[in-house]
Formats: sequence, structure tokens, C-alpha cells
Amino acid sequence: MRTHWAVVPTCLPLVRRRCHACASERFRPSGKFRVNANHKLIDVWLLVLCTRCGDTAKLAVLERVTVRSIRPELLDRLHHNDPTLTADLLQAPVVQRRNRVALDWDDAWRLDTGGSEHPDGETVDVSVRFAARIPVRPVRLIADGFGLSRAEVDRLIMEGKLVSAVRLRGRLSGDFTFTLKH
Ligand SMILES: [Zn+2]
Repeated sequence: MRTHWAVVPTCLPLVRRRCHACASERFRPSGKFRVNANHKLIDVWLLVLCTRCGDTAKLAVLERVTVRSIRPELLDRLHHNDPTLTADLLQAPVVQRRNRVALDWDDAWRLDTGGSEHPDGETVDVSVRFAARIPVRPVRLIADGFGLSRAEVDRLIMEGKLVSAVRLRGRLSGDFTFTLKH
């Protein structure tokens, strides 16, 4: 049989960044943008708050961009602090690179197995879809999805009963499939 699982965000991820005020290393998105227009140039920042002391930091989204080059629809979303825009920008590789930050997805996602159980005595092909680029360990995902222990999953890999084109013991953040044989 074939089944589909999904890795879905449950909330916004945290931002890994060192706080200059308290040395904490996690910020949470405030959901607010700061837009600064100067003559014909515009700067946009995403505001994040230290999870320990609440200090604000700015993540640069746009730097000295001409106003006319920005779609009016985007400006509108920025001015209204559009929450889906926050999620999109946090995950944008260009924003992460520019600000030298990475995301912390711990406790910010769940596995949706569509209620499928571990079918006894049947080979099952599972395709896993990622709703966002959330780095997870497939072995942990498989253990959760089938209600197995990590040791049991390791044993299935060793016995050749759990196979995939990807490395199941590494980390992944994109769609993959695997097969559990009996
Ligand atoms: Zn702090």
C-alpha cells in the first residue's frame, strides 16, 4: 500500500542569533516590519525579539531599494504586517544569508500521518511532503509515524526492511520517500 505523510509548521520558527544584551541565542519573530523610506530609497527590516530579555533586533529584508522597483502589493503587505509574509521572509535563503541567521524549528512543526497506522504484514510505501523547509531526521519521523522506538527503526534499517534513496540517518528538509517491507 501507499501512504502520504506531511511535515507541517505549527508556528513560526525561532531565529538563531546572539543577543547583544543578554547573550541568549534565540529570537522570536515579532510579526512586525519596519519600513524606512528616504527620498526614493526604501529599507525594510523584520523585527525580532530576544526570547530571554525581549531586546529587539532587526533583520534586513530590503536595503536601499528604489521605491518604484517594489510591487505595490508587497508594500501593502509590509505596512499591514502580513503574518504570511513574515513566514515567507524568515524562510527566504537570501534573508537568512544577508543577516547570517538560521532558523530553529524545534517544537514548531508536527508530523501529519493522515491517521494511517502501521499495517501488519504489508509492505508500505510512504511519501513524505514538507510544507516548509524544516530540517528533520527521517529516523525520528519514521519512529514517530509508526509508533516505534529509535532502536526499532535502526534495526529495520540494518535488516534491510526499511529502505530509501535518501540517507535516513541524516537530516533532510525536502520531500522524500521510503519503503517499509515485511
Ligand atoms: Zn536578550
